[in-house]
Amino acid sequence: MKVITTICEMQQAADELRKLGKKIGVVPTMGYLHDGHLSLISLAKQHADVIITTLFVNPTQFGPTEDFEKYPRNFERDKKLAESAGTDILFVPSKEEMYPSDHLTNINVERITSVLEGKIRPTHFRGVTTIVAKLFNITKPHIAVLGQKDAQQSIVIQRMVEDLDFDIKIIIAPTVRESDGLAMSSRNVYLSATERKESTVLYQSLQLAKRLIDEGERDCSIIISDMSKLITSKPSARIDYVSISDASSLEELVTLRPAGNILISLAVRIGTTRLIDNIIFTK
Ligand code: AMP
Repeated sequence: MKVITTICEMQQAADELRKLGKKIGVVPTMGYLHDGHLSLISLAKQHADVIITTLFVNPTQFGPTEDFEKYPRNFERDKKLAESAGTDILFVPSKEEMYPSDHLTNINVERITSVLEGKIRPTHFRGVTTIVAKLFNITKPHIAVLGQKDAQQSIVIQRMVEDLDFDIKIIIAPTVRESDGLAMSSRNVYLSATERKESTVLYQSLQLAKRLIDEGERDCSIIISDMSKLITSKPSARIDYVSISDASSLEELVTLRPAGNILISLAVRIGTTRLIDNIIFTK
């Protein structure tokens, strides 16, 4: 596995690969890799000849009171894991490389970025789309693999790719979970032992929603209310949102429609750690 730290070298390497007729797959990450990230790399390998994993804790997607400084980082560990999962090139730029002091351009996807995560984190998606667009221009991929774990992020990036005519196929990988259902996340390391136990309530509430719907419930406010009661039964849990929305427009649903993809998503603070999770299903 080759490690590249500069934009210039990465673009040259991507150009060479394309000249050789290789199909490039990219997996953008913020590092502190876990099995969720590694599953994305494995899936990318099924669709591309050469896999570039990017590792960059992107400051512009963190709000001023968020955890950018304390976000977990461990380069040597990530390097080993990325290589073992089949990464061919690890692109690890510095903050200065990605955002020189004269950087002025940002990408803003409208409407679908002002709900759910975007309502609580107003500058978040602008940071995400800007860095992902830059990473696409630097790694020149044919395909990119993203996780359903960050469902809104994947939907927003797909929108950007379509609206701005990036010639890149977006592939969404399923969420990888711990054995008790907690979605894997780099932020799970923040949880104390008690919080870790209580954090399973996110997945349990999603399962509850699915059960209620399977049993015939169609009123979204009832489903959300039952999920919320379950979540707040855990002393460490504070709800940011619990939502049932259309999985492409992200519009909140009042009643479940007979057709179309439904996104049930939630953000919950367990102590001081903010966790998100979701399920998508077709009715
Ligand atoms: P992050 O490093 O958290 O920015 O995530 C990088 C990529 O990995 C994103 O596309 C995430 O959606 C994806 N990802 C994060 N956690 C998981 C998980 N538990 N299962 C599958 N994909 C994940």
